[in-house]
Amino acid sequence: MKILVINAGSSSLKYQLIDMANESVLAKGLCDRIGIDNSFIKQTRGSEKAVVLNKILKNHKDAIEAVISALTDESIGVIKNMSEISAVGHRIVHGGEKFNSSAIIDEKVMEAVRECIDIAPLHNPPNIIGIEACQAIMPEVPMVAVFDTTFHSAMPEYAYLYALPYELYEKYGIRKYGFHGTSHKFVAERAAEMLGKPLSELKIITCHLGNGSSICAVNKGKSVDTSMGFTPLPGLAMGTRCGNIDPEVVTFLMDKEKLDIKGVSTLLNKKSGVLGVSGISSDFRDIQAAARENNKRAKLALDIFCYDCKKFIGAYISAMNGVDAIVFTAGVGENDYDIRKRIVDDMDFFGIKIDEDKNCVSGKEVNISAADAKVSTLVIPTNEELAIAREALRLLK
Ligand code: ADP
Repeated sequence: MKILVINAGSSSLKYQLIDMANESVLAKGLCDRIGIDNSFIKQTRGSEKAVVLNKILKNHKDAIEAVISALTDESIGVIKNMSEISAVGHRIVHGGEKFNSSAIIDEKVMEAVRECIDIAPLHNPPNIIGIEACQAIMPEVPMVAVFDTTFHSAMPEYAYLYALPYELYEKYGIRKYGFHGTSHKFVAERAAEMLGKPLSELKIITCHLGNGSSICAVNKGKSVDTSMGFTPLPGLAMGTRCGNIDPEVVTFLMDKEKLDIKGVSTLLNKKSGVLGVSGISSDFRDIQAAARENNKRAKLALDIFCYDCKKFIGAYISAMNGVDAIVFTAGVGENDYDIRKRIVDDMDFFGIKIDEDKNCVSGKEVNISAADAKVSTLVIPTNEELAIAREALRLLK
């Protein structure tokens, strides 16, 4: 069975075709600059070099057509025709309170996803357009929606509710939802396999550190708290997002800088985080390079990021009354051993200690704990696409 996984953004669309017989990626690619000039599709087959084709992609329907045409192309493709695609798994950012599991897409599900637009105006519309484009081109193929929020739907009320007037929760659904759920779940399950213990007996803290970053407390396989919230803005300082700040800063800035709602939202989402502090880049590799050259603000940005991570880990140890494993994943978590070391440094009080030689690893699954550590520290590459394909397979069975 071959499953196509689609992750549609506003002007880009990422895809993977996975053969579920051995969970191998047959091809993966990206349609970029959809609806803008110079649009293109880039596809990689197995371990071959990527092929880039310039294509006019006026909209997401054009993009899906380009994906099918690339996948079935005689020279760069991997399947003979579209009928080899048994199902499509769609990544949906926000399932609100309507979804506590993935769902086979029908008109009722689409209606519920549309109703979530109100609380995810930036994220759900492109996801919906992606689904509609696929439905138009492959009407007979079953499709599954996999939500970033689902894994966190087990959070207890006291963890997800904000101390705002309760009526606002009832009226608008203002509460913590959490994101990156597919990734947190995937690496927590993998951690249990690596440790050879049932997930139902473990307390795990998963650190998904990438452009967007979040930390999750996973108790007995369930998310009991996470650092992102109503939107993917709060929690840790990120590439360009501010993370937790005093909410009154918003009104102060709107007043002093004469910012409207859009202006202040752009400032907090796009101009803050390690980019805002360093003034250099949102990319951690650039910031690390500047820090090595003694750039003071680059160093400060890294200090803030690592300190934020440390505090969430401490909070979640407290929330779960202990921890068995800390997991690092995503671009920074999988690759940046300096950041990993700085986050878990001086946590021997909790029994967290890493082996510095083992920690010198990039993008590989490794247990980096020191021999005398009480808590396991693991590096586990995430694979959200595979997790989505597995969900699609599970539901369709
Ligand atoms: P997202 O999926 O949220 O866009 P990723 O998980 O791909 O992000 O992470 C991107 C981040 O990972 C970037 O800041 C990048 O600098 C960082 N990163 C990727 N590779 C490395 C590396 N080898 N060393 C340090 N940071 C890295």
